[in-house]
Amino acid sequence: MTAPLGVLMDSVSTGNRRPRSGPLPDLDAVVVGAGVVGLAAARALALRGHEPIVVERHRRFGAETSSRSSEVIHAGLYYPQGSLKARACVEGRAALYRYCEARGVPHRRLGKLVTAADPAQLARLDAIVERAAANGVSDLCRLDAAEVARLEPALRSAGALLSPSTGIVDSHALMQAFDADIAGAGGQVVYDTELLGFERSQAGGFVLRLRDAGGVSEVSAARLVLAAGLFSDPLAACLEAMAERPYRAPRTRFARGRYMALDARAPFSRLVYPVPEPGGLGIHLTLDMAGRARFGPDVEWIDAVDYEAAGEPPVARFEAAIRAYWPDLPEGRLRPDYTGIRPKIVGPGEPDADFAVHGPAEHGSPRLVALFGIESPGLTASLALGDLVAERLAEGG
Ligand SMILES: Cc1cc2nc3c(=O)[nH]c(=O)nc-3n(C[C@H](O)[C@H](O)[C@H](O)COP(=O)(O)OP(=O)(O)OC[C@H]3O[C@@H](n4cnc5c(N)ncnc54)[C@H](O)[C@@H]3O)c2cc1C
Repeated sequence: MTAPLGVLMDSVSTGNRRPRSGPLPDLDAVVVGAGVVGLAAARALALRGHEPIVVERHRRFGAETSSRSSEVIHAGLYYPQGSLKARACVEGRAALYRYCEARGVPHRRLGKLVTAADPAQLARLDAIVERAAANGVSDLCRLDAAEVARLEPALRSAGALLSPSTGIVDSHALMQAFDADIAGAGGQVVYDTELLGFERSQAGGFVLRLRDAGGVSEVSAARLVLAAGLFSDPLAACLEAMAERPYRAPRTRFARGRYMALDARAPFSRLVYPVPEPGGLGIHLTLDMAGRARFGPDVEWIDAVDYEAAGEPPVARFEAAIRAYWPDLPEGRLRPDYTGIRPKIVGPGEPDADFAVHGPAEHGSPRLVALFGIESPGLTASLALGDLVAERLAEGG
């Protein structure tokens, strides 16, 4: 740092411009995006002695995907062996439970059932057990129909897997705790500030063009992390323009997921998932920290980020999916709840992609890490991804 943090941030967040003849405010590390992953990355950097500034275009953290998830702490059952999703989920889940316990972040290890609605689906449970074991998840219990009925009498099931290490977390409280860690370790989150673009500076860092209420200004930063979620494309284009060798950054596609809340007492005490469907995990039942039940999300590919245009979820389709495992769903008790949008880096019908965490090894630009396609289980994996970003940032000089 060549100038006090407060002075620099005054210039960034209030629009008090520094004279353009003088040096640009020189920041140690800038993280773009105050979602759960950007905050976790900034936290990891701060704990390693950096002074990260998180820039967020909204006036609060988690205003996009991170406050529109199922808030499930995933065990790591479904992801391909050796994938970053599998590793970051399994490591991140263990780290997240430890963190929540240490920091008093509300969470519950409720367990989840992955249920086969009919005998034809039982073989798919075997495949999940195999994949989970390959990912280091060895606590799954195979239950027959009678055992399921004893645990969850309202569930219609030909057999199920019980995942005891699946849970739920209050994602807002988690982000609040990350935010406090960042501040406590010398970092800061700056709101209402958007990164418009960036390029390599002569000194080998980055010149960032930021827009806030006061207009557009430039700062320089020695390190840069891009955790922009659904809005990664413009930054991906800057990264490509700056790359010193041919590099194509992933482009983001959007798969909307709508939820419906149950206007009645929750019928189950655990999370209930059907066997997964392409593009998502199927219309499942999750519980929030207050014990309320909601169903979803569905999968609908859209061209632009627009939560309002989601319209009402197709009730009949939700009811049909839910009645496959909960035949007693009463008529007219589902009401539209919130909508989330998955940041995909593949299109409809293509096999799921892994998380893309691109550092110098991929794009050739030292001291820059960019994250793309951080869909589920990004919340579960956030602490592991934060550590990974900090490690990768040190690569390449
Ligand atoms: C429907 C749904 C359900 C999910 N359920 C689960 C689950 O149960 N468990 C789980 O583990 N994961 C789940 N996930 C995944 C998880 O929510 C995401 O992986 C995680 O929230 C991604 O966090 P992020 O920080 O990468 O992105 P985001 O939360 O989208 O944050 C990105 C931030 O960057 C900001 N930004 C973007 N561009 C700029 C810019 N140029 N300048 C300044 N700021 C910028 C945005 O405003 C935003 O706040 C779910 C996702 C969806 C969509």
